[in-house]
Amino acid sequence: MTIELFRNDSYLIEHNTIISEIVSEGLVLNETIFYPEGGGQPGDEGSITIDNQTINVIGTRYINNKLVHLVENIDGLKKDEEVRLNLNWVKRYSYMKVHTSLHLLCSIIPFPVTGGSIGDGRGRLDFDLESKPDKEEVLKKINQLINEDFSIYITSITDKELDENPELVRTMAVNPPRGSGQIRMIKIGDNIDFQPCGGTHVNKTSEIDHVKSVKIENKGKMNKRIILNF
Ligand SMILES: [Zn+2]
Repeated sequence: MTIELFRNDSYLIEHNTIISEIVSEGLVLNETIFYPEGGGQPGDEGSITIDNQTINVIGTRYINNKLVHLVENIDGLKKDEEVRLNLNWVKRYSYMKVHTSLHLLCSIIPFPVTGGSIGDGRGRLDFDLESKPDKEEVLKKINQLINEDFSIYITSITDKELDENPELVRTMAVNPPRGSGQIRMIKIGDNIDFQPCGGTHVNKTSEIDHVKSVKIENKGKMNKRIILNF
């Protein structure tokens, strides 16, 4: 199993590690700082350097339960070789900011989330909601939360605690990862947002760029899509 260093520190941009396996799509490593595609967030890109050779990582995702760094060519690579990872930080930081802003959006719109997507400078959530919220009101509230500079904390609760508080799960489409007995929780401020999440977040809401505009689309009687543009 790859040790996922980004879970506890999403600000790591370089790291040395060892190739643990080579698969047809790319490399599996002992440790990684690359986030694999999931929860609406794209997998990380960057590069891997071995000796003086640098290979581009064009994406990261789970394949057959293995965290694979996708590369165009695996020729000449060997298991147990030491490699240096360099993350495409510009893209990832943009995803972290957009991802964290969607937690803030959850706190403003207290309805179940049915889907979502995180892009570079843009993010959206779909809500199980009948009436369209006022987009100018959403814009004002989210920028207020960004300005107020709340801290983001990583904590955990037990499977049992989550079972006893099912309302903590905001995203109906994604089940929180169970099995280890502990569920990773993301907390913003004292009581802004608290929900299970495995993604990458910024440390402070003030790191998020101001939302420039909010768009709300009707995707069905009980489905409203809220798009944030930065
Ligand atoms: Zn999250």
